[in-house]
Order: sequence, then structure tokens, then C-alpha cells
Amino acid sequence: MAKTVFVLGAGASKEAGAPLMSEFLDRANSLDLSKHEKEDIDNVFKAIQKLKVVHYNSYVDLDNIETVFGLIEMGTLINRLADVPLNELEGLKKSIQRLIVQTLDLSLKMKIDPENTLRQLPAPCYHKFASTLKDKNAQAFSVITFNYDMVIDYAFRYYGIPIDYCLEEVQNNQALKLLKLHGSLNWGKCECGTTYVLPWDKFKYTSSFLTIGATLLSQIHCENKTIEPVLVPPTWNKGAYHSELRNVWRQAAKELSEAENIFIIGYSLPESDIFFKYLFALGTVGKAFLKKIWVYNPDPAVENRFKALIGKGIEKKFKFIQKPFSEVIYSIFNIID
Ligand SMILES: [Zn+2]
Repeated sequence: MAKTVFVLGAGASKEAGAPLMSEFLDRANSLDLSKHEKEDIDNVFKAIQKLKVVHYNSYVDLDNIETVFGLIEMGTLINRLADVPLNELEGLKKSIQRLIVQTLDLSLKMKIDPENTLRQLPAPCYHKFASTLKDKNAQAFSVITFNYDMVIDYAFRYYGIPIDYCLEEVQNNQALKLLKLHGSLNWGKCECGTTYVLPWDKFKYTSSFLTIGATLLSQIHCENKTIEPVLVPPTWNKGAYHSELRNVWRQAAKELSEAENIFIIGYSLPESDIFFKYLFALGTVGKAFLKKIWVYNPDPAVENRFKALIGKGIEKKFKFIQKPFSEVIYSIFNIID
């Protein structure tokens, strides 16, 4: 069976209201929160101020949450982060994760009627995407995404498309594989080591908006143990998340290796994401049956980044289309049919 893999980046969720990584801190700062709710955001901004003093003469983009998240990760690993006291490092890491959760919850505003959780239409792009996929054989498609948000998850649920996150090795062969390489707003890790997936019927509503991340963090898996979000910074040190996400990453490499068509949409291949470069290189190496690797992005600069990544063997199959997700959804399905 010919297989098609979609790789979806932040550009694909932008239309649904998700901030891009470069806009994230501004968005977090503009949220209307109580003093108590603002605690995590304040912690992160204080750390950024300290980092700015240290990094005034080095090339580190402290306005981008990817960079800040990556620096805090590295700081907890090497036990040093500007003049942030060492005993505050772990707390700072939790703060930045909670900042992401909170910002996504409040930015996406998935307004869903608690009496009928399927009444709301999915966000337009994903709506088209899922409505087209629903009549197709789920096993012929898989989706790899870098997005933490639940917009695509909801669209699949709306159309009754079963999904498998592949967090465990045992898989549901009837389901569409939705591989969230950087984690998901509804995935948590209990202190006991278990990865916990918050089911839809547990999501809470605040004035009829879904608050997925906040609900997750209020769950109890084992008594007296806390649940932390499973959100991986897009930068380098993914080793720390090895145990939770190993199966997701393995499956992503397997899907890439078996693909006849790979469509990469709204993913800009940032220099810092060496992980994806390796995953891609190992996943697609020497695949004779790959027919198309097409990249869709409104930013023309993305083309050259992918050209540098694509190996000699598959360069004839590469095509760059300078368009956003919303303009290309139907045409992609026409290409496959
Ligand atoms: Zn537990």
C-alpha cells in the first residue's frame, strides 16, 4: 500500500491562533491573568533579563521561546544559567513549560460546548484536511507534527478518525498515526514515570473554552505525585525525553522510511532543529520507492534550507511550493489520487 506522510509545522497551526515560536513570549506577556496565574510567566521573564545581561555580546535570540527553552534545558543539565540560583533551575524549567501550556490554552480558545463536545467545527485548515482524510484508508497516511496544540487532534476526533499517538509499542493498526515529536498539550508525565494521556471526556471548560493543559496539570495519576507536561524544546537536547518519546520517534522514522510521498507543510526547518535533520536523514536514506518530497511554505528562504538537507539520491523528487497550508490542502489530495 502506497503511503503518504504529512509533516506539519507551526505554520499549519498558525491559522487556528497558535503563536509561532518567535511570537510566543509576546503572546504570553499579553495574556490577561491574575497575579497568581502570572507567576510562571514572571519567573521566565526574570530569567530572560538575567540572560540578556550575560548574552549581550553573543548570538542568542532571547526573544524566541525556542532559544530560551533550550538555554534553560541546557542550564539544568550543566547546572549553570547566568546568575539564576542553582536551586531555582528546576523550578524555572517547570515555569517555562507551564508558560507554554497556559499560552496555548488561552491563545487557541477552542470554544467547545460542554453539552455537545462535537458541535464546534475544527479550525478551517485542519477541518479541510480531516474531512478529506476521513473517507480514505487511515493506514495509508500518517502525520508527523511539531505542534503541541490539539487543533489537529480535535479535527480527527470531529470526523471520527481514530488516531494512535504511538506512545506505546503496541499499536492500533486501524488508526491514523499522529506522531507529535515535541510532545502534546494533553500528555503528561507522572513522577512515577508513566506517560499519561488526558482523555477528551476529562477536559475542563472555562467559560466554554477548553483548558487542556491546565486540566492535565490538575490530574492525579498516583497519590501525592505531580504531573508535568510532556513538551520538548525544539532545540537540541532531546535525550532527556528519551523514555517518554522513544516510540514516537522510532515510529516517525519508520513512517518516513516507508513513505512514497512526503509533504512537509509550514515547517521552516530551523537551524537549531538538528534532531529533525538526523531523523530525516536516517529515516529516508536510500529509499528507492520515494516518489515525492514536496515542501510547502510561504517563506521562500525555506527552500534552500531543505535543499541542503535533501541527499543526492532524492533531489529529483524534491519540489518547493511557496504557499501556505490553507491554499494547498485539496491540491495535495488530488496529487495523491
Ligand atoms: Zn503515577
